[in-house]
Amino acid sequence: MKVVDTNVIIHGRGLDEKALTTPEAIAELKSDYSKTRSLALDIETVQPSKESIEKVEQKSREICSNTSEVDESLLALAIDREVVLMTDDKGLQNLAHHLEAKVEGFLDDVASRKISWVMKCPSCGKETEKMCTSCGINPVRKRDQYSSV
Ligand SMILES: [Zn+2]
Repeated sequence: MKVVDTNVIIHGRGLDEKALTTPEAIAELKSDYSKTRSLALDIETVQPSKESIEKVEQKSREICSNTSEVDESLLALAIDREVVLMTDDKGLQNLAHHLEAKVEGFLDDVASRKISWVMKCPSCGKETEKMCTSCGINPVRKRDQYSSV
C-alpha cells in the first residue's frame, strides 16, 4: 500500500496495488477524465492526522519549502501510515527526505539530494521573512544548503 499524488492517480494505469490519498488531493482533481481514472484504481481516501500535518507544516516552514497544502497532506498521510509516498514532485520528495519519510518516484527517479532554502533580501543579502527594512525589497527564496540522502 502506498500514498499516491494526483499525478499518479491521473496516469495511474498499471498501478497494481491499493493506493491511499487525501480528501485535499481528490478535491484538486478537477477534470472529469481524472475523476474517471481515479475510479478505475483501488483508492481509499483518508484524512491525515492533525499531528502529522503540523509536523509536516513545521518542517516545510523551517526549510522554506514551496510545497502546497495538498502535497503536505499526502506526506502527512504517508507518515501516519508509515508507507511509501509515490510522487514525482521534486519539492515534495525533498520535504519527505527532511522528515525521513519513504518516498518513491512514479515516472522518474527520486531526487538524491536534500535541499533547504532561506528567505533573503536580494539586494543586501540579509535573511528576512518580510520586506527588508534597509532596502525596502521583498525577500526571495535562496538555496541555503544541501546534502545527499
Ligand atoms: Zn536588504
